[in-house]
Amino acid sequence: MKKNEILRRIPKIDEVLKAGGLELLFAGAGRTVVTEAARSVIQDLRNEILKMSPEELEEFDIQRMDIEAVANRVIAYMEQEDCNNLYPVINATGTILHTNLGRAPLCKEAVENVAAVSKGYSNLEYDVEAGKRGSRHNIVSKLICELTGAEDAMLVNNNASATMIVLSAMAEGKEVIVSRGELVEIGGAFRIPDIMEQSGATLRDIGTTNKTKPSDYVNAIDPEKTGALMKVHTSNYRIMGFTEEASLEDLVAIGKEHDLPVIFDMGNGLMVDLQKYGLDEPNVPASLNTGIDVMLFSGDKLLGGPQGGIIVGKKKYIEKMKKHPLARALRVDKMTFAAMEETLKKYRDTEKAMRDIPILHMITEPADSMERRANKLAEAIAAKNNRVHAEVIPVQDQIGGGSAPMVYLPGFGVAVSSDDISTPSMEKQLRENDMPIVARIHDDRLLLCVRTIGEEEVQTVADAFEGME
Ligand SMILES: *Cc1c(COP(=O)(O)O)cnc(C)c1O
Repeated sequence: MKKNEILRRIPKIDEVLKAGGLELLFAGAGRTVVTEAARSVIQDLRNEILKMSPEELEEFDIQRMDIEAVANRVIAYMEQEDCNNLYPVINATGTILHTNLGRAPLCKEAVENVAAVSKGYSNLEYDVEAGKRGSRHNIVSKLICELTGAEDAMLVNNNASATMIVLSAMAEGKEVIVSRGELVEIGGAFRIPDIMEQSGATLRDIGTTNKTKPSDYVNAIDPEKTGALMKVHTSNYRIMGFTEEASLEDLVAIGKEHDLPVIFDMGNGLMVDLQKYGLDEPNVPASLNTGIDVMLFSGDKLLGGPQGGIIVGKKKYIEKMKKHPLARALRVDKMTFAAMEETLKKYRDTEKAMRDIPILHMITEPADSMERRANKLAEAIAAKNNRVHAEVIPVQDQIGGGSAPMVYLPGFGVAVSSDDISTPSMEKQLRENDMPIVARIHDDRLLLCVRTIGEEEVQTVADAFEGME
């Protein structure tokens, strides 16, 4: 068929809009939106035909120009437009704090509280008892102080924001002394030297990459210029071998002697001791207990809450931050407060925190429990598709999120292989599942690590193999 002839057969917008099936869309989305969708579909159709080769034109099915066929395309277009760009996925990688997959999943109560607080009005900045304006800073401060022993606390947008406001409020125009071994890059555009520059403080780096002694800090202190001493936790890397660093205690002692505040960017926000699970990481209460003046950490790493940056420490410094112009720019929304408060409340009872905060539960899950789930998953996959072979194997899971880089947690996974379906094709089909599943390929097999797959997700993962070819 000739190109012109096909183009002539494209229905007019008005004709398409009159077609059956679109009335429901008018009712739901409104006539203007549907008209726009029809215009867009017809335009796409025209462009598609204009680009066609003579062979493609030869084979063109003219029924695609039927009004009903084009109307169906409009319906499909509207459905696709209605899909969100942010949606849930299943994490089968075994990496607990997967930054690409949203870091920490929230506990049930946090999720419920977000819905409860955000679906209507809330007392975000209103003192209900007094009947007058309140402050959002008070929502979680007391709870954080109770849990950490801090004098005061503040919640900002994330730990990067926290670093920014801490340095601006405490050391703008002054030098901040940091070890060369701790000039961390976290990823994205977060580098300690760059943040320092943005904040208006000047980096005074001391020592060498592998060795920084307490005397290096003392020698760098200039009563005229120095604003603070800072320690940064090397969250996502380790320096090993011939090394030396000054401890928090060393810095606190030096700070006292020279009347300088000591800041600790601890990063991960771990609130409990996880040494017995192989996690040799600092935790918030113990670090604060050394006498640090100000300490900051993320809300969505090992704390297991929503994205946020928590600043704790001496009242005189935190008060300065609350009044700083950046506080407004870095403030968090009611949804974050709602999730953070419920997450923090769990820590009043360590046992409860370990059980209910998803990431702590995942870190501490016993091996036999994971093995049972892996067996269940392997059997369910085999039952859904006889073209694949599913085998339970031991795996090494990671904490992720730039935390505890040397820690490998022994876990269990299901390795899936097939004579008929290539492994990359299986991996792709899982991603294209209604509920997308993100898995890794290991040793040419598809690997589903069960540590990050919830009991209630097992069947969904198995179902994704149904009809896979
Ligand atoms: C993760 C981390 C940050 C950045 O925290 P975000 O909450 O991702 O902004 C800063 N410093 C350290 C030491 C970290 O580990």
